Amino acid sequence: RLEDAGASRDTWQEGFHVLVLCNDVTQWHRMARMRSDFIANVSHELKTPITAIRGFAETLVGEDVDESTRDSFLQVIYEESLRMSRLVEDLLTLSRLETQEMHLEWHPVQLSAVVEMAVDRLQPQLQARHLTLRVQSEGDVTVCGDEDKLLQVMLNLLTNAMRYTPPGGCVSVTWETFPDQVKVHVADTGIGIPEEEQKRVFERFYRVNADRSRASGGTGLGLAIVKHIVRSYGGEVGVRSRVGFGSDFWFTLQRCKDPASSDTASGHAV
Ligand code: ADP
Repeated sequence: RLEDAGASRDTWQEGFHVLVLCNDVTQWHRMARMRSDFIANVSHELKTPITAIRGFAETLVGEDVDESTRDSFLQVIYEESLRMSRLVEDLLTLSRLETQEMHLEWHPVQLSAVVEMAVDRLQPQLQARHLTLRVQSEGDVTVCGDEDKLLQVMLNLLTNAMRYTPPGGCVSVTWETFPDQVKVHVADTGIGIPEEEQKRVFERFYRVNADRSRASGGTGLGLAIVKHIVRSYGGEVGVRSRVGFGSDFWFTLQRCKDPASSDTASGHAV
């Protein structure tokens, strides 16, 4: 258009450079905004437990309190310190995932073994919350990935399913196999997620109900970690949910051609 207006080629190129610079500046602003939002979120998340710990510790130091009050204050201090540890742990996981992206480990991993490890680890909490767990698959399958990271995906999704399902409910793990990939579902009969919020739950620190999440020990980072791991192995994540009926979180992974893998259908209640 500059040329149409009689501008020389040099002027046209100057115009082009200005355009690229504007684009860069927009991108720079977006990144700066994301960084400052992230820092604001982390600070806010840390402020809550720090305020509680300081308040209760000050009372214990400055006032004469009876034994049972002291014990309950110490319990709060202990739980809030655990909450801070979980948050720092999740932040470190996300940061490690971002820096490790260039050299990901790709191994053949038996999906059923990962599910079994996650279930074993969460068995005490499942029982304490009176939840039934069903694991049902079309057959065992070998996927490409890193066992520890895939275990983290399963643990995060199962922990959420337990966290947001009232006692007496049901949690299930199932998977469908396709020629090149496998689709894993972690479903529950819990509180569900409103449709307009379903897209956002994978964002860092996004919560449908922040108080409920914090009260049940959530950091708001579990699904962001899931999405990061699954995407880095070439998969996709998603959720289907209905408020009051439950949620079905799913993710896909690429299948590994492993001649040693068995393909036997299985299903059992745990
Ligand atoms: P949190 O630590 O808060 O659970 P996540 O990133 O794991 O953080 O999940 C983000 C939000 O998505 C949760 O705060 C919750 O509102 C919602 N959510 C996640 N899983 C479920 C589920 N199985 N049922 C209902 N809501 C869920």
